[in-house]
Amino acid sequence: MKQIQRLLIIPLLLAVFLAVGDTNAAQSKQTPKMADRILLINIQIFNVNTGAMKPPQDILIDKGRIAEIGHINSAKNAESIDCTGMYAIPGLFDCHTHLAELTTTGGDSLQIQLRGFVTHGVLQVRDVGGPIDILSKMSRRIAGGELIGPEMFYTGPMLESGKLTWGDRNKELPGFTVAIDSARDVDSLLPALARQGACMIKTFNNIDRQLYRHLVEVAQRCSLKIVHDPGEPLFNWVPMDVALDMGVTSIEHVKAPWPVVLKDSLREKHDKLIGPDANPMARMSLMVEIARLGIESVSLERLRELGRKMKEKGAYLCPTLNVLSNLDDVAIEQVKAQMGVDTIPPPVLEMIRMQTKAMGDVSRLFVREFAKDSVAMLVGQDGADPTATLSEMKTLQENGVTQAEILRGATIYPAKWLGVDGRLGSIAVGKQANLVIVRKDPLADIGNLDSISVVVQNGRVVGD
Ligand SMILES: [Zn+2]
Repeated sequence: MKQIQRLLIIPLLLAVFLAVGDTNAAQSKQTPKMADRILLINIQIFNVNTGAMKPPQDILIDKGRIAEIGHINSAKNAESIDCTGMYAIPGLFDCHTHLAELTTTGGDSLQIQLRGFVTHGVLQVRDVGGPIDILSKMSRRIAGGELIGPEMFYTGPMLESGKLTWGDRNKELPGFTVAIDSARDVDSLLPALARQGACMIKTFNNIDRQLYRHLVEVAQRCSLKIVHDPGEPLFNWVPMDVALDMGVTSIEHVKAPWPVVLKDSLREKHDKLIGPDANPMARMSLMVEIARLGIESVSLERLRELGRKMKEKGAYLCPTLNVLSNLDDVAIEQVKAQMGVDTIPPPVLEMIRMQTKAMGDVSRLFVREFAKDSVAMLVGQDGADPTATLSEMKTLQENGVTQAEILRGATIYPAKWLGVDGRLGSIAVGKQANLVIVRKDPLADIGNLDSISVVVQNGRVVGD
């Protein structure tokens, strides 16, 4: 009974949505070739503004920058690459990684995986949760050329209140999650993170709203952007609409809209069960009721309203749909670990499957509806797997997001959100020469991004 109670109280799906990707990746042996001037000849260029390819032109790269675009007859001392029939895409961002995980696997997997991101065209990441010392060191090693890897924009630890949901992760990665229980915690921690190179913070789960408001103010003073994961699938203390009203503009995981867009009767019951004093059994029972209803629990009008609010605020949703692919398996493993058993009783198994199915169904519905309403979404895998960024893009495509929007969600949107669009996010004269050259058109099928011919990072060709 004790075990079952524990099972009922622990929000099963929480664990599922926090799961990180595995770390399998193609091995690569590339070393950067040193060429300060490169002429890419006769290549179609993705225009982030129109969402279309420009007719073939030439791109001259000089000293790490895009020096010229047009019809360039000759360029002295440049390495020429004939790109006839090929396409140039800005170097991709993965907007939701946890690269600190790579330091726990040992051997040379850190080097291999980081390089794998680059060879897969991912030249920048938003890393949204890991020990600050590990992330700042990794970022410095990449920036200094000691490691080949994506440029890192990072948060440092997850910030939570009360009992740390991620406490266990601190055993392997001390500082993975940190408690902020008071204004004083916020006042001392945020400036310290900024000093260690964080350009944003990651807020998670049960944070008191007053404290959250204070955190937003301090973050703004420290020039830290906020990436908000509202936490459990339902019963969020700072639901995404509240966070948007407070000025947060990046919402993580596609489960986030659920509590905000419940139909009236469910929403009323749900909102009474938010906070530290709510009865866990009543919450569990409502969660089961909502999961049984699946997409029928959702008010499409409320969802459209939420989409309108996001657009008004210039906010982004980073769905991390990729984690849905093995939701059942992950949930079952988590519950086995929580219960300390090898097999799960059939009724519990059925309940898990019912909840994961509902989660998958509403997630896909949210992405489809947001795509129809042109709500901006970011591409993020929620892991540390160089191949998973493209998997996320394919899943977004399967769920109605256009290829042009997916490319924007991995290029200009994150560059704008981070305030680095003067340097990154599109192919334009003066910008950093980070680009990916592919043989097949990604606007016909986003999966064509696997046809990489050349990756140019900081103006240099990486591998071939
Ligand atoms: Zn994550």
